[in-house]
Amino acid sequence: MAGKKKNIIYKTDEEVELIRKNCLMVSEALTLVASIIGPGVSGKKIDEQAEQLIRDNGAIPGFKGLYGFPATLCVSVNEEVVHGIPYNHEFKDGDIVSVDCGVYLNDYYGDAAYTFCIGDVDEKVMELCRVTKASLYKGIEQAVVGKRVGDIGFAIQNYTERQHRYGVVRELVGHGVGRALHEGPEVPNYGRRGKGMVMKDGLVIAIEPMINLGKKDVKSFEDGTVITKDNMPSAHYEHTVVVRKDKADILSNHGPIEAAILKNPNLKEVIDILAVSA
Ligand code: MG
Ligand code: MG
Repeated sequence: MAGKKKNIIYKTDEEVELIRKNCLMVSEALTLVASIIGPGVSGKKIDEQAEQLIRDNGAIPGFKGLYGFPATLCVSVNEEVVHGIPYNHEFKDGDIVSVDCGVYLNDYYGDAAYTFCIGDVDEKVMELCRVTKASLYKGIEQAVVGKRVGDIGFAIQNYTERQHRYGVVRELVGHGVGRALHEGPEVPNYGRRGKGMVMKDGLVIAIEPMINLGKKDVKSFEDGTVITKDNMPSAHYEHTVVVRKDKADILSNHGPIEAAILKNPNLKEVIDILAVSA
């Protein structure tokens, strides 16, 4: 989230493990979503199920009540970019549904997101999802000690905007994760190589490309939902990672989500073109 400058707080190994636990619970909630989502299922239904799972695990939905958001999941369909509210409206064949989830437990947050492709999704939109997901890993590759935050944004922008001619959303960015859901630094999905803060060991950040099939411009509804100005679809994938030497440690896990997608006949799989999904 863009806004005033927030504190940058490096995490101890113990804190990283608390955040990892939360991120894995987010992954569990998104895996449950992957197993039940399909045509005729509503945002409200997946939201209730995710909330139940999180509360059964003794945790608190991280988004509920934050900035006035009323639900456990942000559910953003097609031209909705992020911050969609789960309503009773049912998903239909051909929809792409971005589901973002946060968990709060032991004074720390965890954050991850995945875009699900329901039924017969247009091949152009499938490609948008594949490229957006791949761009997440291109960003994560840069999240190592000694690199700069701009290296992450450059990698994502270069791949999605320059190579694939998609629109990179500017108004919303990745962020530090810790005792607050949104800590510093801001982690934009655009940027210049070698610019921005130098990353040190123990920096925990959420990297979350929001990529539009059409132009980069977005607008907001009164309820907070962000949508593309040209009404073209938008995809969103997110991991929380900790910056380490040589290679970031990915604290969330898309692996079980993707295993559940393969088992759900209502979903089209977003093939991992980089085959690096943890
Ligand atoms: Mg998120
Ligand atoms: Mg986030």
